[in-house]
Order: sequence, then C-alpha cells, then structure tokens
Amino acid sequence: MNIQDNYKAIQHTIQTTCQRVGRIPEQINVIAVTKYVSVQRAKAALEAGVRHLGENRDDGLNEKVKELGNDSIWHFIGSLQTRKVKNIIDKVDFIHSLDRLSLAKEIDKRSSKPMKCFVQVNASGEESKHGCSPEELVDFIQQLTHYQHIQVVGLMTMAPNTEDKEVIRNCFKKVRQLQHDVQALQLPSAPCHELSMGMSNDYEIAIEEGATYIRIGTSLVGNETGGV
Ligand SMILES: *Cc1c(COP(=O)(O)O)cnc(C)c1O
Repeated sequence: MNIQDNYKAIQHTIQTTCQRVGRIPEQINVIAVTKYVSVQRAKAALEAGVRHLGENRDDGLNEKVKELGNDSIWHFIGSLQTRKVKNIIDKVDFIHSLDRLSLAKEIDKRSSKPMKCFVQVNASGEESKHGCSPEELVDFIQQLTHYQHIQVVGLMTMAPNTEDKEVIRNCFKKVRQLQHDVQALQLPSAPCHELSMGMSNDYEIAIEEGATYIRIGTSLVGNETGGV
C-alpha cells in the first residue's frame, strides 16, 4: 500500500466532499494515525506531505517522537490514563481525549503552557466508548475554567460501530450542536472552534457535518499489526 497514493485519494475525497457542501478544503486537517504502523511508515506519511501525526499510547508516541519529532504536529488521540500524562505532556501539541476532571487536573499540573485539548464526547451512548456524556458537557467545560493550562480548542467524538450511515451522521450532528452550545458560553479558555471526528470509514460524513480534524489510520498508512 502506497502512502502517497492513499493520501492523494483522501485529499481528493476531501475536495469533492467540501465542494458538495460548500466548505473550504483547507479547513480540514488530516491526522495520520500511526498506532498500527512502524516509524518508517509514519516517516513516509510525512514525506507524502502529512503534517499531523496521531498516537494513542505513550510508548508508541515516545518512540516515534524520538525519531520524527520536529517535522510534525503530534496528537494524542486515545484514552489517557492520568498516571501516563507525565510521559506525553511535553511531546504533544494536542490531546483529543479529555473527558474527566481528574485528567484535566493532572494535565494542568504537568503542563508548562496552555495545552490544546479536545473534550471527548460519547455521543453514541455506547458503554464501551470513553467520553463525557452530552448532558454533562457544558457543566464539565465550565469546570475546566479552573485549570489555567487547559485550552478547549474543540470537541472530539468516535462514531458508533455500525454500517448505518444515518446513525453515524446523527452522532456527528449532535456533536456539532454541542459545539454551538459550548461556543455560546463565550469562555476565553474554550473557543471550541474545532471538531475532531471521522476515521477511515466515516470521514466523508464527518466532513459533511463540520469536522476540521479527521483521524485516519488504516486507509492512509495501513495496519501492520495483522488486524483489518
Ligand atoms: C485508531 C483510531 C483512529 C483511526 O482509525 P482507522 O479506522 O484506522 O482510520 C482514529 N481515532 C482514534 C481515536 C483511534 O483510536
């Protein structure tokens, strides 16, 4: 699987999707999710022109940052254990999985600068998914104002595991609505301009529904772990 061709195909889909819904392709940032692949393939993604890389484990992140550090913008996309914060905090530019106050407190304590965070929302209600519930979101974001080093740049969600495109779309729509609710608070620490949603199988729908960061693993860099 050639990463350059994959990236071109994704960029083409971004362009046609944006055209269809009247968005600007430059608003869509592609994060290459490299959790299933080697440093070499992450490097190939950078060479193909990708600027954003995403990892979901502290060891995977550290290994790749060591090799590729300065060339890229790093995103931590997976559920984050509080005790692991210290291992990643100086390596990442964005954290996509802020979902509880204990985590905010630790990020606030360990970070030397305002950390750009996405608050993860469990919009599908699936038990297996992490994230703040939609009902609790506004209150949670208000509580985050107590932490100086937490900057809420946006909301992140994962669509439910389903083939049903309308269910996926409704999930993304809901998160976009929640984004408006957060923006209405007009909190300086929570501009919430961004939406991190869409993966290999559903990023087109996510773009239609307002995503500004899409997180793509399998269909961009592949999967070397033998999974599908
Ligand atoms: C693995 C992962 C992705 C990428 O998934 P693909 O289906 O391989 O594109 C995106 N977001 C999160 C949070 C992930 O854990």
